[in-house]
Amino acid sequence: MTGSALVELRHVEKHFGTLHVLQDINLTIDRGEVVVVIGPSGGGKSTLCRAVNRLETIDSGEISIDGKPLPEEGRELARLRAEVGMVFQSFNLFAHKTVLQNVTLGQIKVRGTDKRSAEVRARSLLDRVGVGSQADKYPAQLSGGQQQRVAIARALAMDPKVMLFDEPTSALDPEMVNEVLEVMRQLARDGMTMVVVTHEMGFARSAANRVVFMADGRIVEESAPDEFFSNPRTERAKDFLSKIL
Ligand code: ADP
Ligand code: MG
Repeated sequence: MTGSALVELRHVEKHFGTLHVLQDINLTIDRGEVVVVIGPSGGGKSTLCRAVNRLETIDSGEISIDGKPLPEEGRELARLRAEVGMVFQSFNLFAHKTVLQNVTLGQIKVRGTDKRSAEVRARSLLDRVGVGSQADKYPAQLSGGQQQRVAIARALAMDPKVMLFDEPTSALDPEMVNEVLEVMRQLARDGMTMVVVTHEMGFARSAANRVVFMADGRIVEESAPDEFFSNPRTERAKDFLSKIL
């Protein structure tokens, strides 16, 4: 089903001390939609992602997933985190667990899946992201691109409703960027709802339904990728694009 709101942010405000990092953020992400968030460093993109996953609290406003407001704490919060998959710039895999264990752990601990079923699912997901043969290795034995694909498989293992990617390719050597973007493109084609913070404009053009341009804690522009890249409306966006394109 597409066209119905899955993630909704209404009048979201967040300060870090005197820094007003999210200012009246209003954003609706529909089921199956791919939203790319771009903008200058320090603009609040990571804070926005972290707020949706409740890794950051907000000062005021509302965030809801699938019509339900974000829970404050406890078991409900663990369930929410399972519904909102997150992939970070720094892969954040458990270093002392094998690749397979990285992908089974959350299923067993949070979802209550039995070990054998969790392993079957993990192997299938590892195959899907192209690292099936690495299952018994430790993260440090993998390339950055492989580690990031494991991180994606780990998030998918929780059967999330939405996936958040915060600069997933920024820490990768250039030759590994595409293998990760290709996995993300495939996910998008499969209908996953995705929020992707990235500087990869090729990905934004080819995979996004919508581009959200954020600067200084605000959503400055929001439009279809073609429109945004060929005809940005604000000086702030024009200036940003002139520096990166
Ligand atoms: P972006 O991801 O767009 O680069 P961030 O959301 O990481 O922006 O940061 C927005 C602003 O908030 C930056 O000025 C950053 O230094 C500040 N900031 C982020 N996290 C914290 C924190 N935990 N405490 C204080 N300031 C923070
Ligand atoms: Mg960031």
